Amino acid sequence: MKILRFFPRFPLVCTIFARVFGKKMETDTHYYIYTGLDAFLGSRFGGKVQKLSVNAGTTCPNRDGTLGRGGCTYCNNRTFNPDYCATTADIRKQLEEGKRFFGRKYPQMKYLAYFQAYTNTYGDAARLRRMYEEALAVDGVVGLVVGTRPDCVTAEWLDYFERLSRETFVWIEYGIESVYDRTLRRVNRGHDFAATRWAVEETAARGIPVGGHLILGLPGESFKEMVDEAAILSRLPLDTLKLHQLQVIRGTRMAREYAERPEQFHLMTVDRYLALVSAFLQRLRPGIAVERFVSQSPPSLLVAPAWGIKNYEFVELLKKHMHAEGVFQGQLYVPDKERTDAP
Ligand code: SF4
Repeated sequence: MKILRFFPRFPLVCTIFARVFGKKMETDTHYYIYTGLDAFLGSRFGGKVQKLSVNAGTTCPNRDGTLGRGGCTYCNNRTFNPDYCATTADIRKQLEEGKRFFGRKYPQMKYLAYFQAYTNTYGDAARLRRMYEEALAVDGVVGLVVGTRPDCVTAEWLDYFERLSRETFVWIEYGIESVYDRTLRRVNRGHDFAATRWAVEETAARGIPVGGHLILGLPGESFKEMVDEAAILSRLPLDTLKLHQLQVIRGTRMAREYAERPEQFHLMTVDRYLALVSAFLQRLRPGIAVERFVSQSPPSLLVAPAWGIKNYEFVELLKKHMHAEGVFQGQLYVPDKERTDAP
């Protein structure tokens, strides 16, 4: 039981570890470059855990007319729905298909039901809760990951997740996308960064692990502003973070904007993005586990940039790059109590 009490302190331990041993890591064999998701999940489950995407058939307030109809300018949900969950709202069936896919190679694998597409705390709450509980009843499913917008969680939803998390693993993932309100307005997110701050803090205050998703390269943001996002996010009680490069997707409003005014977009090369992620990680609190760095939309949907690089390939390039530079996550992170500019 003692070890269980250690898990919530994992981020703090990472922070202390990186700060105390930072100099050693700079000059030694670079066994620490960044905190990966294995550190976050492995400490909880002790074995292989795979997220299985399920589609609850929800929508989002930015599409159904509540906030708007066009959605975020970059959004095409077809880019993040795997085939096994594209055609049915039957949660059990989606999970069983996903398990068949991964179980062939790793029979001992455990699974997290990942409610990813659209906004999974929006709409008929009773129906969504039934779906979560149906997912948790599937053999081998050891927890839930719920993706949602920060302005679509309420205290009631968080109270529900808190109760659920006493029985199983629950991890909430928020679409943050940018810390800058002017960017959020420009991409038509329909919420501001204050909504993110509230949602992340309230979720963490209930002892629920909380993740965020950030897009690097949104129009109007400079290299320095993107790097600065790391310090701003480090001050939130985030446990995990997913990064990805801006991709212009066919059929989106952003694709039209890109065709009409390409000069307003500064799509990055892989090398430029490597430099950006490296600088970002150096300022990121080491206790935040980074789940991924790039996303790869199907070529049939992708307008630009056409990198043709998978996340694991990027991770290898990143490790080499940061190793060669002698840098690592958290190297330039300044905790609030040491900041001279902290409010
Ligand atoms: S990115 Fe998310 S919030 Fe934005 S329109 Fe798409 S589903 Fe809705």
